[in-house]
Amino acid sequence: MTTQATTFNTDLPKQRTIPDLLAGQKALVTGANSGIGRAVAIGLARAGAEVAVNYVVGEEEANKVVAEIEAAGGRAHAIYADVSNEDDVKAMTAKAIEAMGTLDILVPNAGLQRDAAAAEMTLEQWNKVISVNLTGQFLCIREAVKEFVRRGVRADVSVAAGKIVCMSSVHEVIPWAGHINYAASKGGVHMMMQSLAQELAPQRIRVNAIGPGAIRTPINTEAWNTPEAYTDLMRLVPYKRIGEPEDIANAAVFLASDMADYITGITLFVDGGMTCYPGFATGG
Ligand code: NAD
Repeated sequence: MTTQATTFNTDLPKQRTIPDLLAGQKALVTGANSGIGRAVAIGLARAGAEVAVNYVVGEEEANKVVAEIEAAGGRAHAIYADVSNEDDVKAMTAKAIEAMGTLDILVPNAGLQRDAAAAEMTLEQWNKVISVNLTGQFLCIREAVKEFVRRGVRADVSVAAGKIVCMSSVHEVIPWAGHINYAASKGGVHMMMQSLAQELAPQRIRVNAIGPGAIRTPINTEAWNTPEAYTDLMRLVPYKRIGEPEDIANAAVFLASDMADYITGITLFVDGGMTCYPGFATGG
C-alpha cells in the first residue's frame, strides 16, 4: 500500500482479537448502533463478552448489531436509553444486569457534536453536547460502579471488579476552534476518568479512556468522504490513513481485558500520530 498523502482507499485494520480474552464477561456499550460503538460491541463480543447494545435512535441498527453478534455465536441485547436522562440510564443498567446477570465492562461511548463559532453558539448547543458527552458518561459510570462494588471481583472471569473504558477524543488535549462545547466535554471526560481511576483503584475497578483521532464514522463524514477532504485530513495524520472503527475496538478489547490489569487512569490515543504535532514534522 502506498502512503502518499493522496491515498484515499486504505487497507482496513484486521480484527485481531484473542479468542476468549473476555470469556464470560458482561459488557455495556452506549451508542452501540453506529460507528465506533458498533465496532466496540462487536469486538468485545468476538473476544467472548456478552454485550448490551445501547441505542437512543436507530433501534433497527441496534438489532442488526445484535444479529451480527449472534450470527457469530455470541450473545447480545439491544437496550434503549438516552444517556443524558438519569431515569433512562438507571433503567438501561437494570435491564442489562437483568438480561446478563451482572456487569463487568462499561464503554460509555455515546457522543455528538453541535458545532458553532463561540459567539454564535446557543446555550442549547452547549448544553446538549455537555449533557450527552460528559454528564451521560457520568450517569452510566455511576450506575455501573454500583454493580461492580456490590458484586466485587468475579475471579472466574477477571482479576478486576470492573473495567470502564471512556470514549474521549484527541480533543481532550488538542484545542478545536469552532467546537468549544465538544472540546470542553472531552477535556472533562479526561479529568473525570483520572479522578475516577484514583478513587476506584482500591476497589479494583480500572478506569481508562480511548482518545480516537480521525475515525471513519457518520460523525465526521464531510472530513473524509471526498478525495479532496481526505487529502486535507491527512495533513493532520502522520500515519497517512484514516482510522477505522476496528482500530478503536481493538484498543477497547485490550483495555477491558486482564492484559491491561496494571493500567488505570490513562488515555490511550488511537490516532495515527495526530497528537504528535504533525505541523512540526517539517517546520519549527
Ligand atoms: P456516531 O455518530 O456514529 O455514533 C455516536 C453514537 O452515539 C450514535 O449511536 C448515537 O445515536 C449515539 N448517541 C448520541 N446521543 C445519544 C444519547 N443521548 N443517548 C444514547 N446514545 C446517543 O459517531 P462515532 O464517531 O462512532 O462516535 C462515538 C464516540 O467516539 C463519540 O463519543 C465521539 O465523540 C467519539 N469520537 C469519534 C471520533 C471520530 O473521528 N469518529 C473521534 C474522536 C472521538
